[in-house]
Amino acid sequence: MTQIDRRGFLTTSSLALIGLAVDGSAGAGAAAADEPVIDIHQHVGYAGRADDALVAHQRAMGVTTTILLPAGRSVRTPSTHDGVSNGLQAQCLGNEACFQLVAAHAKAYVSGANEVPDLDEAVPEIERYLKRGAVLIGEQKFGVECDSPAMQKIYQLAQAYRVPVLMHWQLDMYNYGFERFGTMLAKYPRVNFIGHAQTWWANIDRKHTPQAGLYPKGPVTPGGLTDRYLSDYPNIYGDLSAGSGLNALTRDEDFTRDFLKRHQSKLLYGSDCTDVAGAGPTCQGAQTIAALRRLAGSKRIERKLLHDNAKTLFRF
Ligand SMILES: [Zn+2]
Ligand SMILES: [Zn+2]
Repeated sequence: MTQIDRRGFLTTSSLALIGLAVDGSAGAGAAAADEPVIDIHQHVGYAGRADDALVAHQRAMGVTTTILLPAGRSVRTPSTHDGVSNGLQAQCLGNEACFQLVAAHAKAYVSGANEVPDLDEAVPEIERYLKRGAVLIGEQKFGVECDSPAMQKIYQLAQAYRVPVLMHWQLDMYNYGFERFGTMLAKYPRVNFIGHAQTWWANIDRKHTPQAGLYPKGPVTPGGLTDRYLSDYPNIYGDLSAGSGLNALTRDEDFTRDFLKRHQSKLLYGSDCTDVAGAGPTCQGAQTIAALRRLAGSKRIERKLLHDNAKTLFRF
């Protein structure tokens, strides 16, 4: 019995090693120098994760530069759903915590700047951190109309500092009026916007309906609103992070191969994952990297998605 158990164990661990090598998770550190990866979407304090666990997670994934996205301050307003969405609804910390981590890990980390957009302090608070070197505004994840006066002040600030704005689109919860967003893309042609989250990714499908839920499965019909925004406006980009991004990549791989090719200069790798492993089945960020390597169609496009597009957009 002992022998069989031992052989069983050895077989399992060998398969595990092969699995890691095949999906690119193993040896990520060794590949880092040759193939840098920019993760445009991570958080400090995410679901209570410690800073050293975040740093280890990013290293395990093979990420060489990480953009930290701060939360706004904690307040009870309609725009935070009376406090429900403080900490980006996931215990994420704010500007100061992100800048402290950047200071402790120079070069490997940069930060965004953020605030609850409809507070009087929003513009001065965000501007303070843009002056300190924040590379974008976000993650904007608040219950506000996407074309409200408050949000337009955010877009004008982004224009003045030439930084992108990253927005979490979630039906009836965060950034209302996705169907009207084209008016903002046209009104602020010099602002680069980055779309993220469930409603953004569900709308790759022309046949998407709200009844299909936030993580729709199955075949995708090209020409959804997100697909059209990416085609029609040069100033909108897609953030591939989170379960929503991974779901969009994996639900219809034939569609995905074509989608990645058509929008190869407009899509950006991000992880947005809360785990501590940085590899394997619990790490959605590592699975997204593996999916992009499998579906990109060429090394050139793969490198654009994992690194080059972000390098061009952010200029750091
Ligand atoms: Zn996030
Ligand atoms: Zn992860």
